[in-house]
Amino acid sequence: MPSPPLNERSSTTDAIVLRARPLGEADRVYVLLTRSRGKVDAVAKGVRRPRSSMGGRLEPLAEVHVALHRGRSLDVITEVRTVLSHWTGLARPDALATASLFAETIDLFCEPELPLPEIYALLAGAIAAVAASDAPAALVPRFQLRLLHALGLAPAGDACVRCGEGFYQHGAWLDLEAGGLGCERCYGARGDAHALDAEDVGNFRALGAERGAGAALRATPQVARAVDDIVTWHLGKRPKARALVYEFS
Ligand SMILES: [Zn+2]
Repeated sequence: MPSPPLNERSSTTDAIVLRARPLGEADRVYVLLTRSRGKVDAVAKGVRRPRSSMGGRLEPLAEVHVALHRGRSLDVITEVRTVLSHWTGLARPDALATASLFAETIDLFCEPELPLPEIYALLAGAIAAVAASDAPAALVPRFQLRLLHALGLAPAGDACVRCGEGFYQHGAWLDLEAGGLGCERCYGARGDAHALDAEDVGNFRALGAERGAGAALRATPQVARAVDDIVTWHLGKRPKARALVYEFS
């Protein structure tokens, strides 16, 4: 027998807990990245009472399956089931700081109620990778660049943003205002600021590539700095968790 249709105000979805804040006496508002609706603010009622079983499942960075009911202003979480908890892997300060940076960066970039399945998959994969990594902070640049690609904000790795020519063996210069990398002819006179050598340019391309396809997992120092500068430029600020990542790594 087919299951009865859900009330149109109720739905279920997978979600990753980005952050939480207390509300009133006993409730908490969770910012969830859901698979089906993108970012959603949802309240869990009574979750701060000792007997609530929901609170433990809604730990930050856990992947959960939730039932949501649309309220007047906020969604209400009516059911939670744990899909994946990385509690053990994220118990280390450097791993927790890195995964928190990923969640905060996505929170800052993503508008509410805009489904972004590629970004959901990116975050789920990145948190799992951090939980399993001995050097989690080294995963930051690839996450940032893959996120920029998913958002359509990543600079082209093979053509000058001004003239469209390739970079060949000359390296490239990062032009944040123009949103891309520039060639030696257009930017060489600027000096060394934001310069990437030929190896860096190759690393930049590989770092942004999809898994397989010659993808690089680690960034050169110059590429790590360039990618971080691009993220900061788009956000207009540095995510708070970023300072913790570099403190613990
Ligand atoms: Zn050029």
